[in-house]
Amino acid sequence: MISYCSRCLYPNTKPDLWFQDGVCGACHSFDQRSKYDWTAGRQVFRDLLRANKKNPRYDCIVPVSGGKDSTYQVWRVLQEGFNPLCVTAPTDQLTAFGRANIENLKSLGCDYIEISVNREVRAKINRHAFFAVGDIQWPEHLLIYTIPVRAAVQFQIPVILWGECPQREYGAGRPEDAYLKYFDRRVLEEYGSLNGLRVSDLLAIEGVADRDLYFYEYPSVEDIDLLGLKGIYLDNYFPWNGISNTVISQSLGFRVSETNILGTISNYENLDNYVHGIHDYLKYLKFGFSRATDVACNLIRRNLLSREDAIVLLERHDGRYPAAYLDRTLAEILSYFEISMQEFDAVCDDYTNYDLFLQDQSGQLMRRKDGSPKLAASYLNLHS
Ligand SMILES: [Zn+2]
Repeated sequence: MISYCSRCLYPNTKPDLWFQDGVCGACHSFDQRSKYDWTAGRQVFRDLLRANKKNPRYDCIVPVSGGKDSTYQVWRVLQEGFNPLCVTAPTDQLTAFGRANIENLKSLGCDYIEISVNREVRAKINRHAFFAVGDIQWPEHLLIYTIPVRAAVQFQIPVILWGECPQREYGAGRPEDAYLKYFDRRVLEEYGSLNGLRVSDLLAIEGVADRDLYFYEYPSVEDIDLLGLKGIYLDNYFPWNGISNTVISQSLGFRVSETNILGTISNYENLDNYVHGIHDYLKYLKFGFSRATDVACNLIRRNLLSREDAIVLLERHDGRYPAAYLDRTLAEILSYFEISMQEFDAVCDDYTNYDLFLQDQSGQLMRRKDGSPKLAASYLNLHS
């Protein structure tokens, strides 16, 4: 049975989320922000980049997707007078929005490199991970961590600047990691989202060879230590807010959708990848919440949305069956990975946690109009 944070709407089924006095880790971490000295934080940021400059031209690596947050990150670094090298590990199925926003980011005034791994092999890994761990975005979740580290070692740039700290923003993982000024190899690997599937396991997939997996692996410990690699989060040094990040990014040419994005309650994120809808639906089936909840909880913490209104929005938008995403149907998206609609529905059923959803007397899931199962714990019961 799901229970919820008494302040936002994060459920106790969220992986690695910790609770104290009925309040979730993300809310506790957010409270700490009022104690931050942002003026001092900015100075620490500047000193840190200056002290760790090894490459004569570049001050840091900024991993970018072209989304609102990475557009803001690059702008912020340039505003502070530093020269970033932007590195992209492209998403699994890049959309027209994704490509347009990457091209826009490239116009901000910085060097940019994009590393694309073998597409045929990657699609095989997507397919394998979908069946093996219920995560079609597995290659992406790994490559966004490993490729910037490869680039850091290659170009001898010791600082990788990430955006928001997931341990703080989403309460994911060890509470103590939310306060890290640096993160080390342990943290890199622990939050590399492997879901129990290892890179070495990929060799069992037909058509995948060791030579295909260079970018799926981190450089050697020796190379990382020799460089003195430091991963830092921008939200340790500057206030972080998805809404203001969007405003700034839009003023710089970032494009948003004209309509709400399926499975969430915004038009400004999850725009770059056709498989977002599939990933977020599986998350809902496994844990009883999805992307709309993440966005709503962020807004609740910032007093931009009431808990009561969020409940109404989530019942309508969270965990929607991804029959189509942006301009493509589910069948079109799946066909790229050689997954049939029948296989998709069977995998969804396999990964559904039946304890979280309403069932009729014969044990069949009760469903909403779009085919997604109804949560057993109605958010509305929170008030009783
Ligand atoms: Zn909370």
